[in-house]
Amino acid sequence: MPLGSFPSESGSLSSLAQPMEKISVAVRFRPPAAVDPSPDRIWKVDDNRISLHRPLGTPISGVNFAFDYVFDPSYSNAMVYDLLIKSIIQAAIDGFNGTAFAYGQTSSGKTFTMNGSEEDPGIITLGVKDVFRRIEMTTDREFLIRVSYMEIYNEEINDLLSFGNQKLPVHESLERGIYVSGLREEIVNCSEQVIELLKLGEANRHFGETNMNARSSRSHTIFRMVIESSARDSMKCGDVSNADAIRVSVLNLVDLAGSERVAKTGAGGARLREGKHINKSLMILGNVINKLSESGKQRGHIPYRDSKLTRILQPALGGNSKTSIICTVAPEEVHVEESRGTLQFASRAKRITNCAQVNEILTDAALLKRQKQEIEELREKLQGSHSEVLEQVILKQRNDMHKSELERERLAMELEKERTKRAALELCIKDQQKKLEDLGSLSTSDYASVSTQQKKGFATMFDDTSVSKGEVLRTPNFKPVGDDFVAKRSSSFMELDSSPSLEAFGNTDDEDLWMQLNKGCITDLDMLQVTPDMKCRPLPSFRMPHEPALDEDATTKICHALATECDFNKQQLEALREKCTIMESECTLLKDKKSSLLEALSLSKQENKLIKAENEELVSKLNEEKQKFKELKEDIQRFGMTFVGKTELQVALLTKLKAMSEKIKTLKVPCDV
Ligand code: ADP
Ligand code: MG
Repeated sequence: MPLGSFPSESGSLSSLAQPMEKISVAVRFRPPAAVDPSPDRIWKVDDNRISLHRPLGTPISGVNFAFDYVFDPSYSNAMVYDLLIKSIIQAAIDGFNGTAFAYGQTSSGKTFTMNGSEEDPGIITLGVKDVFRRIEMTTDREFLIRVSYMEIYNEEINDLLSFGNQKLPVHESLERGIYVSGLREEIVNCSEQVIELLKLGEANRHFGETNMNARSSRSHTIFRMVIESSARDSMKCGDVSNADAIRVSVLNLVDLAGSERVAKTGAGGARLREGKHINKSLMILGNVINKLSESGKQRGHIPYRDSKLTRILQPALGGNSKTSIICTVAPEEVHVEESRGTLQFASRAKRITNCAQVNEILTDAALLKRQKQEIEELREKLQGSHSEVLEQVILKQRNDMHKSELERERLAMELEKERTKRAALELCIKDQQKKLEDLGSLSTSDYASVSTQQKKGFATMFDDTSVSKGEVLRTPNFKPVGDDFVAKRSSSFMELDSSPSLEAFGNTDDEDLWMQLNKGCITDLDMLQVTPDMKCRPLPSFRMPHEPALDEDATTKICHALATECDFNKQQLEALREKCTIMESECTLLKDKKSSLLEALSLSKQENKLIKAENEELVSKLNEEKQKFKELKEDIQRFGMTFVGKTELQVALLTKLKAMSEKIKTLKVPCDV
């Protein structure tokens, strides 16, 4: 099975068809956060029916829904699991795809339902443990379990089990169905291993803080188990149709991010952007559910492709999967409108029918056997009946089978032909390589012993006119393999079938060298490293031993040519020397520049130190001044307080004095009298 894919219904996947069945939908109320001050409306649960009432008992018309289950706050996760999810887990082990997801507004209990707590483990933990427990009990089959954990955050798929594995694409193919490309899948053999992986994934999950739920999950997460099984000893069981059949099922446990109203959450910035993505993908999920709940003819196009979530869950929604939805509801009056929306979503989901089937991958032989068996069964059913139409159907099936057999044979023959061609080609390449090796190992000393034909080839390789024929590349270490490019070291032969990487040249990082190399000439790298600018010259012609002796005239000509050659080489050498001198003086200049720069650097470092010291001194002075100022302030405060005290005393004394003088006045009056 491919990574992160649902078993498709095509290719060699056989499916044992099951009747259509409705999606199971349950509603779960979380405990109220606080006592509602004065609720205008309250939810009432009667068996599996939910209705909205006025506090005094009058029901509000139009808000009355029925579901498979309604869980009030007294239901634990284990109870929810037993009633709603357990059957999906067993079906997944039997080869059916299964999906369970929690839907509802933020803080209504989705994550609590899926992940749970220490005391009340959630559906994922319970499901994982149950899978391994049931597998142990199934003695007649062998199992292989793989898990993956992904999140959809801001419409991008991230791998939660592989750090840095982000923005994964969703693909679809006839063979593999819909799959998330590049998602890590871990083969697991016990529940503890899975729980550890879940913890790792949880740590990578995106959390943010909104007013409504301090640790509100900001992404949709999909935990996925791929369960593969085959009969332990298929040949012994005697059922030919089951021989070589492998069952593959995918179990998705999904915790959706919560829908929310921005005004209520007080979100802004990144949170607001996340919220918009979440609401959009939930709206598309709602659209898909709406379409699927419509009857066949009105249904039309289903917009699965509008969001990553619906695309990944496509087989679970109206397709090949047993699906359960837990709609979580916050019971408080303040959330009534969101709760009503959740219940409407749930009641539409209730109308969706799926057609789950056991997914079996058959080998060609098993597929053929099963087809033959089916035809025979049909034949038997037909015996006694003279329905020509049915007879024709059988004939057509036989023809189809025959045709597909022929097609397979033809393909096998073609494959064989291709293989032979490839082997011949490989031989040819080896031969060519050997020839090149031989040519490369030839030195100028034994050049005379090679044939004239070989000599011609060798000479053209050293001819600098061939340099311009090759391609010119600008990125040295990113070069497509060219047929005309061969690089070889004279000391040690290395098989290079493409341009060597830059690292392979050690100290050779000269762009010009790369230009030359990539122009297609055969180059001796050792030689190039010593004299990078040396131009290759055609070799002087050599005389073969069996060729007739040259006359004096010819010898003089050769001598003349050699002398010219020598002159040319001398000129070259002179030019190189000059270049070398220029480069040496340039180098000295650069060295001087470097040392003056170093000096300037050390000076500015010293200055920096001085400025720092000054700065520190100033800071300490400032602190001292601050301290003095503080003390002065305290003195002033103290003085002020003493002053106030003294003023009060003065006032009191003055009052006393006044009173006394009044008294004295009154005492004086009788004396005068
Ligand atoms: P959501 O994932 O929908 O945003 P959470 O699952 O995080 O919401 O729940 C919000 C809060 O309510 C959490 O503190 C959680 O523990 C609590 N809670 C939710 N459902 C239940 C429940 N059935 N029983 C007890 N506490 C719950
Ligand atoms: Mg959550």
